[in-house]
This record gives sequence, C-alpha cells and structure tokens, in this order.
Amino acid sequence: MMRLAERLRCKGRLGLVPTMGYLHEGHLDLVRRCNRLADSTVVSIFVNPAQFGPKEDLSRYPRDFGRDRRMLEKEGVDVIFCPNAAAMYPRGYATWVDVERLTEGMCGRFRPGHFRGVATVVLKLFNIVRPHVAVFGAKDWQQAAVIRRMALDLDTGTRVVVAPTTREKDGLAMSSRNSYLTAKQRAEAPALYEALVTARGLVRAGEKNAEKVKQRALAVIRVGSSGKVQYVEVADPDTLEPVRRIAGPVVVALAVWFGRTRLIDNIVCVPR
Ligand code: AMP
Repeated sequence: MMRLAERLRCKGRLGLVPTMGYLHEGHLDLVRRCNRLADSTVVSIFVNPAQFGPKEDLSRYPRDFGRDRRMLEKEGVDVIFCPNAAAMYPRGYATWVDVERLTEGMCGRFRPGHFRGVATVVLKLFNIVRPHVAVFGAKDWQQAAVIRRMALDLDTGTRVVVAPTTREKDGLAMSSRNSYLTAKQRAEAPALYEALVTARGLVRAGEKNAEKVKQRALAVIRVGSSGKVQYVEVADPDTLEPVRRIAGPVVVALAVWFGRTRLIDNIVCVPR
C-alpha cells in the first residue's frame, strides 16, 4: 500500500476515505466528495479491533467485502485498502495515540479507549497512505473533532475534511449498524432526528438554556420510541465542552440504545 500510495501521490493529489466497510450511501457521499477534492482516492476498509470495547459488537459487526467492492468500483475508486488486524497490530504492538479533553465527554465517557483506538488507526492509515486530504463524516461529530485535532497536533500534513450526514428519507442517519435494527426499532429510530430537529428549532428561536433544549429532545425520544437514551449533550462544536448557556453555535449530540444496538446522531444549531 505504501509503494502504491507513493506512486499515486507523485501523480497528483491523493485522497483517503477511512471506513469499516458494509458501505451505504453516506460512505459513498464521502467517496464522491474525495473524488472531487483529489486526483486519486484510496478507500480503506478495516474493522478496527482497537476501537471496540470487550463487550461491544466487534465479532458481529456486519461485513460484505464483495458488495463493498462493487459499490466502490462504480464510484471509480483507485484503491481499496483492506489490511487484516495482524498486519495493523503485529505481535508486540505497543504504541497508542491519546487525544486529551475532546475524548472525555459524549461517547468517550461511555466507550473508554474507543477514541484512542480511532486516533491510533487513523494516524496509522495517514502514515501508510500519506494522503493530501482525508474525508470524514459529520455523523460521527466527536470522532471528526478528535481526528482534526490529532492531525493538527501531530503534523500529519493531511487536510481533514468533514462532510455532512447522509440521511434516509425519514431522517434516520445512515449507519452500518442500522442493519441490526428490528422492523419495530427501525420504525422508531427516526425519533432521534426528530429530537435533534426540535432542539435546533428551540436554539434558532432563541432558547439560551441548554438544559431546556436537552429536556425537549429527551421528551421527543421518549414519546416517539422505546429507545434507551445514553446521553444527550449540548456542546461547543469545536472543543466539545458542555455548554450551559447557549451564546453561539452548539452541537447537540446523542446516543440511544435500541435493544443491543447503539445509535448516535448530532446536529449543529446556530442561534439567530
Ligand atoms: P464507519 O464505516 O461507520 O466507521 O464510517 C466511516 C466514515 O463514514 C466515517 O468518517 C463516518 O463518519 C462516515 N459516515 C458514516 N455514516 C455516515 C453518514 N450517514 N453520513 C455521512 N458520513 C457517514
């Protein structure tokens, strides 16, 4: 991969889209964005064991390489990079990337070690491919913030681009994990986006009290679904620090369990 990437980066701008596979239209939107920004696009498919907790869904995470390959071929991707875990973490592996502060709240609070695994694998991918540009999704807002920080702090020289969340017609953010949902859970899941839109409406209308925004979002989820809320947070979009009094743009982010399936989503809200 390093030799191939080196050849591509000599010919023009090289782009990278890191994924865990089981691709959907959201991933393809990132690929299309990358194709526009770069002359060649590498898509990595790697279900990174380092970012899953011991009780999480690593072993049942959905995989379908044949389908992924067909989808990527249609988009005109130059290289699909799918290393195995032993190649990425050989015996004796001992080096990790810890991004401070940004990883403390939101998902970081409930998934200890998750962002350490994410930052580490993304830095490794950046070092292997050495892309001029890498595209990530706003769907994983905290992840994008962590990677932006890591790329800046560790001088990777890669431009980190964050593309908007691609949604189903009913508002549900596309996710490989949506395939876990039962028909009933799938029917209820759009309540998350409704909650976020409600929150954005309040902020736009001038609500300054973050707790009130949070409570309204929670109420929408409770009324519209059987999902168990893990968190709803109102935070600064860049530092991810919790906000109590809304005086500028905020991100409202949430994580909700539907049975054994954990869904996340977020929305940026700008007060008038
Ligand atoms: P994953 O395969 O879930 O690790 O995601 C790979 C990349 O795709 C990450 O940068 C995600 O943020 C991004 N992504 C996942 N779902 C969406 C979506 N619905 N819209 C936009 N980007 C997404």
